[in-house]
Amino acid sequence: MCLPGAHVLWDHAAVSTSTGTFTEPAPSPLLLLGRGVDLASERGVECVGALPAPGDPSLVERARAARDALGDRAFVLGHHYQRDEVIAFADVTGDSFKLAREAAARPTAEFVVFCGVHFMAESADILTSDSQQVVLPDLAAGCSMADMAAIDQVEDAWDVLVDAGTAQDTVPVTYMNSTAAIKAFTGRHGGTVCTSSNAHVALRWAFDRVGGLDGRGKVLFMPDQHLGRNTAVQQLGLSLDDCVVFDPRRPGGGVSVQQLRDARMILWRGHCSVHGRFSARNVADIRAAVPDVTVLVHPECTHEVVTAADMVGSTEYIIKALDAAPPGSSWAIGTELNLVRRLAAQHPELTVHYLDSTVCFCSTMNRIDLPHLVWTLESLVEGRVPHRIEVDPDVAHWARVALDQMLALPGH
Ligand code: SF4
Repeated sequence: MCLPGAHVLWDHAAVSTSTGTFTEPAPSPLLLLGRGVDLASERGVECVGALPAPGDPSLVERARAARDALGDRAFVLGHHYQRDEVIAFADVTGDSFKLAREAAARPTAEFVVFCGVHFMAESADILTSDSQQVVLPDLAAGCSMADMAAIDQVEDAWDVLVDAGTAQDTVPVTYMNSTAAIKAFTGRHGGTVCTSSNAHVALRWAFDRVGGLDGRGKVLFMPDQHLGRNTAVQQLGLSLDDCVVFDPRRPGGGVSVQQLRDARMILWRGHCSVHGRFSARNVADIRAAVPDVTVLVHPECTHEVVTAADMVGSTEYIIKALDAAPPGSSWAIGTELNLVRRLAAQHPELTVHYLDSTVCFCSTMNRIDLPHLVWTLESLVEGRVPHRIEVDPDVAHWARVALDQMLALPGH
């Protein structure tokens, strides 16, 4: 999803550019821009007191002063897709799961300031102790992918599987990028959470629970159809014909009972608004422009893009791949722009290209900016806890069951 005005030309010294759709608009609970309160999504964007002006020249100094005043009472987490101005104040950076575990490993930190999006702060609240308070600097920082699977839709979908006689042979697996309610659903139904790094392990575990890969058991994979499809086909050896897409906005998911019975992977119709933008044409164009380029993309990209790329992996994988790259090599990266731009700056010995010609950030990740961080830190110093994220205890219990199952998977 692009920020208005985000189509900007890059500094060619740092980066050069080459060049999932829904037929109906999805009801989005996100408040993309502006102020106000969206009661339906519990994502108000009001900030008590004055939010500092973005142009305030004292912002960095204020952030530093507030951070120093809080000391070990606060722990600031920064997701890889956050802005540089926010990452500069992060005590640790990482993907969503790494950050939640880092928060849990700091039980003395009274406040966990999560510079990321809503579902990540929920996971941090679930994994941290009751005495720790998790705050999200802007409550409008949601995730469009996570919002594509609402709990009532998922409950309805499960009813469809029950009616088709397939629910007992189906294990739900949900990506970290889902709400706490979806993780809890997964825990209640004997499934697991996965990350983009361990999705193949999670899928093997799930299939083993229902007769193995050679059996007839199924996985209901939520909410990212692309990660589910790419993992099943590229890493588990299933075919595209083994996959069906369940569209929650169509009766019966838009698939027949027979299709559900025949399928091995039931993919939720969700996608990432950022990674879904990359196309096979982007890959062809960068190869034509830079013949020796290595194309490295995130598995949230479409199957076409992933099959056209040279390498596929999570954000942590992408970071490690560039750390290990031979000097002078050329790379085209298909993931969120803040991370790619940072990697380009950190690796002047490499040529790093962004895979898309239309520069696009994750708009909700970008809602966390320096004014919101300053406002949050100063509020904590003044004794106010702003934008606390608290997961309902029952939901947290079952979500924890699914998260613990992930931690019990081989490799953790
Ligand atoms: S990059 Fe995609 S999956 Fe990540 S927070 Fe943004 S919309 Fe969600």
